[in-house]
Amino acid sequence: MNRGDNIFVAGHAGLVGSAIVRRLRALGFDRLLLRPRHDVDLMNASAVLKLFEDERPDYVFFAAARVGGIMANQMYPADFIRENLLVQLSIIDAAFATHVKKLLFLGSSCVYPRLSEQPIREEALMTGALEPTNEAYAVAKLAGIVTCQSFNRQHGTRYISVMPTNLYGEHDNFDRAAGHVLPALMRRFHDAKVAGDQHVVVWGSGAPRREFLHVDDLADAVVHLMQVWGEPDAAGSVVGGPDALNEIVNVGYGDDISIRELAAVLQETVGYEGAVRWDTSQPDGTPRKWLDSSRLRATGWTPSIGLREGIARTYAWFLEHHHSARLGDS
Ligand code: GDP
Repeated sequence: MNRGDNIFVAGHAGLVGSAIVRRLRALGFDRLLLRPRHDVDLMNASAVLKLFEDERPDYVFFAAARVGGIMANQMYPADFIRENLLVQLSIIDAAFATHVKKLLFLGSSCVYPRLSEQPIREEALMTGALEPTNEAYAVAKLAGIVTCQSFNRQHGTRYISVMPTNLYGEHDNFDRAAGHVLPALMRRFHDAKVAGDQHVVVWGSGAPRREFLHVDDLADAVVHLMQVWGEPDAAGSVVGGPDALNEIVNVGYGDDISIRELAAVLQETVGYEGAVRWDTSQPDGTPRKWLDSSRLRATGWTPSIGLREGIARTYAWFLEHHHSARLGDS
């Protein structure tokens, strides 16, 4: 990837896409193709093809997706599967038609079987049943991975797939109900502190464990992978091995934490002094989702933002932006 290349960041306004844009700009890549949703509907294949034909991107970071927490996934499974499948085919077809040099597709750690051996290695893909609370989303992401691999096999394209762990950071969705656990709880503790509420309700048993990576670390990793994964290194051997383009890559932080411990860190960061009540009628989801990121580490990449530091940064951002950030009122 060269400075003058035209780079399309699909989903540039979201948590992941906005972090990729910040990272690319910091590295001096400034020919970025960014299109707001009201301008190009990424589910509309002909509109996406026209965008690619008019703008001819060289590289595509595919961070556009319908995403949400455990509750949103359970309430809107049809939206999650159809919107993601439509966007995936529109973008991959257009990338193929216009000879994009390389595309990086963002998957998710929920594509792995619910009861995978921990930490989860890439080889666990499609070896068992999925977690039911986000099955529709996971099946769409699995289809995206296999679409990339199939185009590579049949057409010789260079479409790689990266599986991030649970992410958080600036520009997240802080909706109390639809968001993922970290931003949703940050918001609920904040609102409870401001309102002087006696307690905050947290879902499930608190026992599930999740691995959290700050989105700036994720962006750093994916820009790095776009540049090195499947490319020859200084000694001439292909990074990731001879079939690297068809090998998915996990991007994790390295450690995980229980939801109970996470709630305590969030409560402390926000400075909420009331009580926490566990609503065990809400689902726990998968018991543990801790990625083995040794494939990525072998390329020389490590994360740099610790969880407490990342949460403090996210809360500082939230305080500054919460009037304009994505704060649903559910
Ligand atoms: P998951 O990793 O796909 O399960 O996504 P989530 O981030 O939505 O949920 C992670 C875990 O946090 C699950 O065990 C939830 O039950 C638990 N959790 C506790 N409180 C909340 C909350 O307020 N919102 C969400 N989304 N999850 C919560």
